[in-house]
Amino acid sequence: MNEKQGFDTQAIRAQTERGPNREHSVPLYLTSSFVFDSAEHGRDLFSGDADGLVYSRYGNPNVDEFIGKLCRMEGTEDGIATATGMAAMFGTIAALLSAGDHVVCSRAVFGSTSQMFTRIFPRWGITTTFVAPDDLTAWREAVKPETRVLFAETPSNPGLDLVDIAAVAEIAREAQALLVVDNCFATPWLQQPAGLGADLVTHSATKFMDGQGRVLGGAILGPEDLIEHVRFFSRQTGPSLSPFNAWVLSKSLETLSIRVDRHCDNAEAAARHLESHPGIEHTRYPFLDSHPQKELARRQMRRGGGLVTIDLPGGEPEAMAFINRLKMITRSSNLGDSRSIATHPRTTTHARLTEDERLLLGIRPGTVRLAIGLENQEDIIADIDQALR
Ligand SMILES: *Cc1c(COP(=O)(O)O)cnc(C)c1O
Repeated sequence: MNEKQGFDTQAIRAQTERGPNREHSVPLYLTSSFVFDSAEHGRDLFSGDADGLVYSRYGNPNVDEFIGKLCRMEGTEDGIATATGMAAMFGTIAALLSAGDHVVCSRAVFGSTSQMFTRIFPRWGITTTFVAPDDLTAWREAVKPETRVLFAETPSNPGLDLVDIAAVAEIAREAQALLVVDNCFATPWLQQPAGLGADLVTHSATKFMDGQGRVLGGAILGPEDLIEHVRFFSRQTGPSLSPFNAWVLSKSLETLSIRVDRHCDNAEAAARHLESHPGIEHTRYPFLDSHPQKELARRQMRRGGGLVTIDLPGGEPEAMAFINRLKMITRSSNLGDSRSIATHPRTTTHARLTEDERLLLGIRPGTVRLAIGLENQEDIIADIDQALR
């Protein structure tokens, strides 16, 4: 495999060595374990004197294909695949931090990530300070001598606020802490945090990476020395990705850039249309001229992504009625699917937060998140329009 080859070539050709049957498409390896050629071979595999597959909790050809491709796409040396995105977020912190350590985290992070930092890690003596994603002074001032990790997610859900990855990476470097970026919303096609200075990149592969709402998966990517600690943690504690899900996800990666580009085409068109719609109070999309961080968006992202967030003036009753009037767009909580999805964050994904916490994230009673899919643009816009009337 040629390291200089382009993004799509890597996504399609990396890590696809052919087996004895010369399959063109990598087959599914549903096996929990692998055989040893001799007793000595088994001994050498366990001692590390021989390289090879032993047991699917440690490694499997489908999982290795998925993570091998993803490392090339993110531009990282090494990586670990996990069963879900949350297993990746949890595994990163649990593998690298100890009691007494401190995290600085953007307050605009995925709901379960925020619950993990506020309700689970404090029981183990790991504490977190939350900061506004776009306030660099707040990031800097939240750092303490025991800060080990700065954690960011950009663009955020559902506010579509951005974190300046290069600037926060600089703060992390000065603090001798690690910057971890959840790159789920952008995918490596739109944004490569490692190239901007992030130490570790985490993913939920469940969203755009799968792209068709079929499987759960996740990944932790970074330099070999850090991933070595995560690998030890993962091998002993078992958050491994299943071979079947890895097989689905490896096929999906081959079309990531063309799918994400189409998500962006459709989302951009919907955002421009909705911005001028009199029935909408406010439309949020990173590449709209009205987005307060549009320059940063253009600096660190290739395009604006597949999500558009709107605020309806009639508050929750109007948001609920709008969602109920949709004929094609699905009512669900997922995103990054070929099917467009509408979600009311206040009563679903962010229902656990207090009203004040929600308002800080830009979640108002009339906020609706639109995860724009791959249907024809005109049909997506027509469905939104008829539901707005
Ligand atoms: C969905 C999501 C997660 C969690 O991923 P799962 O695969 O559902 O565990 C984490 N971060 C972001 C940004 C997400 O959208």
